[in-house]
Amino acid sequence: MNALDVKDLRAGYRGLAVVRGLSLRVAAGEVVALLGPNGAGKTTTLLTVAGLLPVIGGEVRMLGARATGAKPHRLARRGLAYVPEDRSLFASLTAAENLRLGARRGAADISRVLGYFPALGPLLDRRAGLLSGGEQQMLTLGRAIASEPRLLMVDELSLGLAPIIVERLLPVLRRVAEDTGCGVLLVEQHVHLALEVADRAYVLARGALVAEGDAAGFASDRRLLEVGYLGENALTDGPSEETGR
Ligand code: ATP
Repeated sequence: MNALDVKDLRAGYRGLAVVRGLSLRVAAGEVVALLGPNGAGKTTTLLTVAGLLPVIGGEVRMLGARATGAKPHRLARRGLAYVPEDRSLFASLTAAENLRLGARRGAADISRVLGYFPALGPLLDRRAGLLSGGEQQMLTLGRAIASEPRLLMVDELSLGLAPIIVERLLPVLRRVAEDTGCGVLLVEQHVHLALEVADRAYVLARGALVAEGDAAGFASDRRLLEVGYLGENALTDGPSEETGR
């Protein structure tokens, strides 16, 4: 059973669709990257799947059951964890308290999170607002993982972080997918790093799907991805085989 099935989705703002005819799937235990230039509709897609924007047309199914237009808290109860761009931690609560808010089974979940992010251990009593950007992002992911999600959606994990930190954080998503069978849908501007952890990728441009395929295939033909879909300046995060940049 797939963690997520999206069919012919139309989504947008005040009834105007900015995402049109999008179909995608995320299998259990799979990491899928949703790529595309600025304004392509990636965030809009995640917000709509998470029940935070209305579905204008099409269908969303989570774990095989209809989820079109379902309320965010119901989706959370059914196993959705959504990590938005802005992290949304409780700044005045400690790291441990933030994790507890996410946890389904208390201490067991928190020790599982510390297995993925040992660096959070010594920070548990510190207020979330006092943590560095990288530590806050670990905590945000940790809180999502503590909720034992069946579908984990992560929007721009890397926003404001140094690439070296992103390189450390992204592989955790792969491990969570493999360890727990959770499906992961990842929006990431560091395309090169996203393709390293993803099984498959979809490319959106101006609200419509323009390509889909194995991450390994996209990674080996990065020139096509750069020029064809993302714009010449899209990939600044790693060496490109063809261009040597
Ligand atoms: P980015 O990487 O820049 O976040 P994205 O692929 O996530 O890009 P979206 O944020 O989904 O793109 O935006 C898709 C389109 O929807 C853009 O044209 C954007 O201007 C428009 N849009 C986004 N938010 C709103 C809003 N609140 N009201 C109206 N239009 C919006």
